[in-house]
Amino acid sequence: SDADAEDGTDPGELRTPIVAVLGHVDHGKTTLLDKIRGSAVTEGEAGAITQHIGATAVPLDVISDLSGRLVDPDDFDLPGLLFIDTPGHHSFSTLRSRGGALADIAILVVDVNDGFQPQTLEAIDILKRTQTPFVVAANKVDTVPGWNPQPDTPIQGSIEAQSDRAESDLNDRLYEIIGQMSDHGFSSDMYWRVQDFRNNIGVVPCSAMTGEGVPDLLAVMMGLSQRYMKEEMSIDTSGPGAGTVLEVKEEQGFGTTIDVVLYDGTVREDDHIVVGGMNEPIVTDVRALLQPRPLAEIRTESRFETVDEVVAAAGIKIAAPGLDDAMAGAPVRVVRDRGEASVIEAVEAELAQFEVETAEE
Ligand code: GDP
Repeated sequence: SDADAEDGTDPGELRTPIVAVLGHVDHGKTTLLDKIRGSAVTEGEAGAITQHIGATAVPLDVISDLSGRLVDPDDFDLPGLLFIDTPGHHSFSTLRSRGGALADIAILVVDVNDGFQPQTLEAIDILKRTQTPFVVAANKVDTVPGWNPQPDTPIQGSIEAQSDRAESDLNDRLYEIIGQMSDHGFSSDMYWRVQDFRNNIGVVPCSAMTGEGVPDLLAVMMGLSQRYMKEEMSIDTSGPGAGTVLEVKEEQGFGTTIDVVLYDGTVREDDHIVVGGMNEPIVTDVRALLQPRPLAEIRTESRFETVDEVVAAAGIKIAAPGLDDAMAGAPVRVVRDRGEASVIEAVEAELAQFEVETAEE
């Protein structure tokens, strides 16, 4: 902004926060991601939402459209949210960036009928350990007996449309969750009563099925990022790329490729890169940067299209020689201004820390 420019500091550019969805099996993680993706596709103009490799980018204007009037785009300068497509705490805990969590923020999905379950507790422990800011999606509100669904609306309006009985039933379940949060060391409350989202976790009642409360969830995630993550989101977009391997995959015509979430800088075709490997860092050159082709074109063309460069935050498939020993969770670094040796050292240090931490789990 102008203010930043005047005091002489370079604010850099703001990247999209990376969001992970965690929670117990069957509590609705996949449905929630599908809902966000699906609504964004319906709501946005063509091309507004972009499918990345392993992630979905929802830009600010689409979030604003989806949120009813909860998000005014003029109040935000972060470009949107990038959701990691693979939900679950196993993927979350193996996905690191420079020792922290790869995801900047998280949604903990809890079924309002089922409350806290073993994997909810595991997720809570991981979020605590990685100090990842999160909100609780108190999901499946539509299963409360007598619920009168209000598809895709903000939750407070939806609650007003319920019978006293259904509302009080829902409140009992929500307070149960707030109590369980407290048992595990987190102060939490209905998100509309939360002033400071760092000290008090927001609980967002929602239904991934009917979409009610999903506008609120997007608004709260956006607000949380804008308020508390702006500094971390400020990056030098032209700097050397840094990312984390999501998956190592064989692709016809490309050999072994890595699916990467890029969280810093830029990666370009022909860039020299260092990738964490099973035995030692792999030093290679990017042969192709691949993105999913829009669904409509897949029947006639290959599944992927090549791009010249990718800027963080983004999900990208990298084809390069020698990737057979690459590992999920390992760091990827572009070698540019720092010499190759120092980048290899950084990758080794990060891998060593990663191994210590996964051994502890
Ligand atoms: P995951 O294992 O956490 O990814 O859970 P899924 O998204 O696969 O959901 C598990 C089951 O719960 C599926 O049958 C979903 O259709 C159902 N489900 C998910 N969210 C909701 C919801 O908000 N309301 C209702 N009624 N069912 C839901």
